[in-house]
Amino acid sequence: MHEFTVASGIVDSLREVYLVKGFKITSFKIAIGELSMFDKNILAELVKELLSGTELRNAKFSTIIEEALVKCESCGKSYTFKELVKTLNDEEREMIHFIPELLSSYVKCFSCGSRDLKILCGRGVKVIDIELQPR
Ligand SMILES: [Zn+2]
Repeated sequence: MHEFTVASGIVDSLREVYLVKGFKITSFKIAIGELSMFDKNILAELVKELLSGTELRNAKFSTIIEEALVKCESCGKSYTFKELVKTLNDEEREMIHFIPELLSSYVKCFSCGSRDLKILCGRGVKVIDIELQPR
């Protein structure tokens, strides 16, 4: 179960901030990439469960979906993933959602026509907006 691996990774990293750096964590957010395929609710539930047995059990957290952004490496223009794929049919969209590397086989930069498109973010999971307090 991928969500479990990610949840453990998040909790371990946060505990390290607590244990090694000596900070108390009052709150944080988990940003889940729109293309990451992780289930937001499952992930939140697991993190909550894993935190409950640790020093960080009182930390508050929320989850947000991080929008995927794509940049044209040729002209530098940036797009949201959604806007780039909106002209495709459902089947194509689903395909690209599962295999984002296929993006440039289906779409071109609206501005310069290049297929040199790079997904900047929205594929992973990360912790943001951590609020710390000295212990
Ligand atoms: Zn371009």
